[in-house]
Amino acid sequence: MNQETRERYPQLRVDLGKLRENITCTVERCRAQGITVAAIVKGFHGLPHAAHVYDQCGCDFLGTSRSEQLRELHEAGIQTPLLMIRVPMLSALGDVVRYAQCSLQSDLTVLRAANAEAGRQNKRHQVILMADLGDLREGFWGPEELVEAAVEVETRMPHLELLGVGTNLGCYGAIAATRDKLDELVCRAEQVERAIGRRLTYISGGASSSFPRILEDNMPPRINMLRLGEIIINGRIGGEAVDFLHQDVFTLRAEVIERRRKPTYPVGQITVDAFGKTPLYIDRGVREKALLGVGKVDYGDPFDLMPTDPGIEVMGASSDHTILDVEDSPNPCAVGETVDFLLKYGNLVYMSSSHNMQIKFIEEEKKRG
Ligand SMILES: *Cc1c(COP(=O)(O)O)cnc(C)c1O
Repeated sequence: MNQETRERYPQLRVDLGKLRENITCTVERCRAQGITVAAIVKGFHGLPHAAHVYDQCGCDFLGTSRSEQLRELHEAGIQTPLLMIRVPMLSALGDVVRYAQCSLQSDLTVLRAANAEAGRQNKRHQVILMADLGDLREGFWGPEELVEAAVEVETRMPHLELLGVGTNLGCYGAIAATRDKLDELVCRAEQVERAIGRRLTYISGGASSSFPRILEDNMPPRINMLRLGEIIINGRIGGEAVDFLHQDVFTLRAEVIERRRKPTYPVGQITVDAFGKTPLYIDRGVREKALLGVGKVDYGDPFDLMPTDPGIEVMGASSDHTILDVEDSPNPCAVGETVDFLLKYGNLVYMSSSHNMQIKFIEEEKKRG
């Protein structure tokens, strides 16, 4: 084949039709229970082509964790209001106020600076105050701190609008979004409401890890916003597949660069690998093995990759190479052929921000034709 027209690899393949179905299906289930969806796009680096699909599907907010992505989404013409979900750095407030309609907040110094910045930009910026309920990442600790901050925003920060109270669970502390935890959040929000003398617009009850409360129909009634990334992006919650969603919206396609029979146990004195570790090698004798032109730099952890061909097993990887056992595969896996993988959230975060990856959008029209 002509080298210029040849497909290039590794590819991050994005099926926009399946993405649309995941968004629509998730948003419908939330709406049916009175829940607003802030769709979180940081998992795929906010790639504008994919973000446009969210824009067309009636999400109430599009959220991401980085101000650079907010700017790119704005420049790509995204109409859905943007939500900044990492509590902002003081140094990023200019862009946060410029591009995001709303931000999550957990610090009074930042809130005061955001109020000043919004004043300078002649804007009213919305904020959701985060309560830390034990996951130990961002958030005001204890009810008094939260209420005090809320009262200051409400009464002394004219350029900010206190839109709601929220929490984040299952990120650092791996704390489950149980009914009890979410009741606790509602309780914190109602303390704020009593102190400011009005009802809050939103109580933001967490991320994909809170979605089981919708499936099991035991979401506290006052929770009316979820911030959903992983469940829409790859149809999983904490890595577990959700049966009515696609798990293959984003996939990896990589090219075989060597294929031969080799031992499975290294030959010689074992020291450390490319990352300074000594992995455990299991001797399975001589096997058919394939080497791929993609590595840890591109996708993070090789053992999170899930080959779509059940006869293929990932043996390991270095920065730029992946080693497969293809002995049991019906496919030849010859040099120049490709192998496909489903991805965990972690793989996708790396791949979508890697300059080495060809990003291939599979358009909906082409598939129908
Ligand atoms: C990443 C993130 C989310 C989305 O998390 P998922 O598990 O991908 O749904 C929501 N809120 C905050 C604050 C986040 O950092």
